[in-house]
Amino acid sequence: MRRTPAAVIDVGGSGAAVWSLAGGAPRLSDQHPGAPGTAELALLGVAAARHGDAILVATPGQMDGDGLLHAANLGWSRLSLAGALDLPGRDVRWVNDAAAIAAGERALHGLDGRVLALVFGTGLGVAVADAGGARTLMDGDGIEAGHMATGDPEACPCGRSGCVEVLARRWMARGEGADALGDAVRMICDMARPDAVVLCGGALRDRARMRALLDVVAGGVGGLPLFGSAAPRDEKSAAPHGTAAVWAQGRRPG
Ligand SMILES: [Zn+2]
Repeated sequence: MRRTPAAVIDVGGSGAAVWSLAGGAPRLSDQHPGAPGTAELALLGVAAARHGDAILVATPGQMDGDGLLHAANLGWSRLSLAGALDLPGRDVRWVNDAAAIAAGERALHGLDGRVLALVFGTGLGVAVADAGGARTLMDGDGIEAGHMATGDPEACPCGRSGCVEVLARRWMARGEGADALGDAVRMICDMARPDAVVLCGGALRDRARMRALLDVVAGGVGGLPLFGSAAPRDEKSAAPHGTAAVWAQGRRPG
């Protein structure tokens, strides 16, 4: 049984990329600007399949019991990834992108223990990685941590209102609501109980913004070690570096 994929398709709200993992170091092979539709997913699948039979797909959102994907920030509802990729005979597996990124940041920073990754992109992904793998952080009701209610009245693309993600978007768009965002990060840390926290994601490639956000969340993480992303500057995310940790837990898409 394979322990690592040959390629990873990393999908985000601002773009998608195919990485070859041959030789151990991720190498960019193809990319698509903006969120991909099903036609673009098919092309990314063809590009990934050139590198081998084992392909990991990392996307925002969640997979339901039928293996269909739901990602509000990409406009996906019951998306059949297997149908879009159409790669019969290949070993295609899916993981949430924040989980892959958390595993990648843990590896790149050389951290032990439990790492909480806050992934700031078009939405807010929240995941924890430890020696056993990585997973999206959910609350007791099965709601992604980025969509936990804060009491704020603004609507969220997920259909609810006042999600943590709403506060993240507001701060990223206008620099407003820093205290509320810091409080939300404290709530997430209380739930995740991490040994370290990493801020990452495509919205933080600007160094000044990363520095500002480190200040915003410093109070919320208490005395925990707090890091900015260790992903190389030319890579959109650390996802390709976490594939060895999450491959075994990848789910077969429907
Ligand atoms: Zn929401």
